[in-house]
Amino acid sequence: MLFYLTCWTEDDGIYSCGHEHLTIREALECLVPDGKSFIRARDNGRLRSLNDAEFGVFLVEVTGGILKGKS
Ligand SMILES: [Zn+2]
Repeated sequence: MLFYLTCWTEDDGIYSCGHEHLTIREALECLVPDGKSFIRARDNGRLRSLNDAEFGVFLVEVTGGILKGKS
């Protein structure tokens, strides 16, 4: 199974939202746009960074959200 979760860094380590989001869009709902949050994939139980295709989706979702917020 492939899930996405939102992670962020604190002074004492890395935290995650603990959810099992099925899409990057869902994971973005947990993301706080403070520059410390990022999304990782959990792929068959292993955490990994987003691949290029997933990062492309992430950018589109983030940009779309910002544009919507400004209009
Ligand atoms: Zn979450």
